[in-house]
Amino acid sequence: MSQNIVTYSPAYTIVPTYECFNRCSYCNFRTDPGKSPWLTLLEAESILQRLQNQGICEILILSGEVHPLSPRREAWFQLIYDLCVLALAMGFLPHTNAGPLSFPEMQRLKNVNVSMGLMLEQLTPKLLNTVHFHAPSKLPDVRLQQLEWAGKLQIPFTTGLLLGIGETEDDCWQALAAIADLHKQYKHIQEVILQPHSPGNLQTLNAEAFDPRLLPKLIEKARNILPAEITIQIPPNLVTDDNWLLACLDAGARDLGGIGPKDEVNPDYPHLQKHKLMEILKTAGWELVPRLPVYPHFYSWLNEEMVTAVKNYGVA
Ligand code: SF4
Repeated sequence: MSQNIVTYSPAYTIVPTYECFNRCSYCNFRTDPGKSPWLTLLEAESILQRLQNQGICEILILSGEVHPLSPRREAWFQLIYDLCVLALAMGFLPHTNAGPLSFPEMQRLKNVNVSMGLMLEQLTPKLLNTVHFHAPSKLPDVRLQQLEWAGKLQIPFTTGLLLGIGETEDDCWQALAAIADLHKQYKHIQEVILQPHSPGNLQTLNAEAFDPRLLPKLIEKARNILPAEITIQIPPNLVTDDNWLLACLDAGARDLGGIGPKDEVNPDYPHLQKHKLMEILKTAGWELVPRLPVYPHFYSWLNEEMVTAVKNYGVA
């Protein structure tokens, strides 16, 4: 790929439910269990119908979590699975991020997702006493195990770090090194997102935003830690100063992630219109190019149905 290309995925996010049994104090997404009606398949179908022929390829299925031991877990999982099947049947490419899954759940979702994701966030256990005090899903070992299982199952995987939630720089290097180690074993990580904490209206955490001026240095170092085939992604709506966005690209970031009408995780930070983003990048010689939610070197890991879906985008 030429040096001056930055990619993004034309995406739309479908949320099966906002309810989540964790309470991360920086969260701007969740509602209490039982307080968010689940999306129905009929509602999803009508959303997806509206999206057809709009240039969108990725359907990001992003869900709050139902506790693994809850009697509602099976129905929650089935809804996510059915949404993937529906999106595929309607010609889209599903990518699910629904928190930690059991091995059999992950195994089933592999059959209906071109890729999957889960933020590692940070590995330092000290966050269990602060921002993750009420978030059992954020146990570092649980997150690492998810990455390992994805590798064992040959699922093209996106992960990343959340920055500015109480970690030190060394914590970041350790988390990146852990991702690099797992990738060296399984070769399954396609992107690492470096996501600056950006305060929103719903969160209880009273903390400053991660200073975007620190991002370029962090990206540079991450580029040295991560194997070259892993792309570094930054969310452009969270780096609101054009010059710092360009500095992030100069430092080695090459992907802007899924761009759609709403960033469900950071609803207070809308994405720029695509043409506006293109203009900003063009002034510095960068070309913004769409990509699929699965990178070409992973096509051989996809089943026949998904290869067909990918081929419909004229690229397999
Ligand atoms: S950040 Fe994710 S896991 Fe934490 S409370 Fe929000 S939805 Fe749940």
